Amino acid sequence: MPSNVLILGGTKDAREIAAVLVARGYDVTTSLAGVTQRPILPDGKVRTGGFGGAEGLRAYLVAEKISILIDATHPYAAQITRNASEAIQGLEIQHLRLERPAWFPREDEHWIVAKSTDDAVRLLPSGARVLLTIGRKEIAPFMARRDLTGVVRMIEMPRDPVPAHWVLVQERPPFAIAAEVSFMRAHAITHLVTKNAGSFETCAKLEAAHVLSIPVVMIRRPVKSGGVSFSEATEVPALLAAQNYICFSFSE
Ligand code: NAP
Repeated sequence: MPSNVLILGGTKDAREIAAVLVARGYDVTTSLAGVTQRPILPDGKVRTGGFGGAEGLRAYLVAEKISILIDATHPYAAQITRNASEAIQGLEIQHLRLERPAWFPREDEHWIVAKSTDDAVRLLPSGARVLLTIGRKEIAPFMARRDLTGVVRMIEMPRDPVPAHWVLVQERPPFAIAAEVSFMRAHAITHLVTKNAGSFETCAKLEAAHVLSIPVVMIRRPVKSGGVSFSEATEVPALLAAQNYICFSFSE
């Protein structure tokens, strides 16, 4: 069976998976949504832009004779994961899905868990000075509250300018704990609003919030399902070998 791999990417993990599989001789294409202007490119081939929903993705899988689909998208990219599960129905494609380990509060910590972005906005007290580390598409409701100020930190510039009472910082991870502590102090941050992106590594901004006893408003992860889940790039070759003769498209 030929091993044409499609990785749904947009994450560091996706690049790591591409590197692992390219090194083992797989024909790997990584798909990027096209939302980042200067993405760090993975090994192997790259295609960019939406497929046109589940139907478009399915047509792509068939046309490109994809035999392995690896969903390595961000934990909060829920639509593309739903599309992937729907697209492979009835096709003989191995389907793996990355599930990054979530971050958890320490025993002496209490995170304020928000059900959604709008919920996070509601949970912030009047006068809070917020460090906002969420996607640019989700910042508008925070800006709309005139009693909140703070710093919006993101990789990509937002399309609309941020209001004058917010500071915009364009930066890409990784961040160091000491630098995060200084940053939060310098900006007199009182609340951290973030997503539970998760990883095996320590999260510097959460550590810094802990050091400074800054409350964390954590936006809950969407539930993702479908495929065989894994948490690290290094697991992928063995999973693919183990599933060699199994069609997972009917398994949910
Ligand atoms: P989403 O809501 O799940 O997907 C929206 C649409 O974007 C999808 O229906 C699909 O369009 C297209 N799309 C998403 N990922 C794609 C990919 N890898 N290749 C081709 N098309 C893709 O996704 P999102 O939250 O906007 O995230 C977009 C991308 O940014 C994802 O690849 C994700 O891994 C990355 N990312 C997201 C976050 C986050 O917090 N959401 C953080 C870091 C990185 P069609 O229906 O037209 O196919």
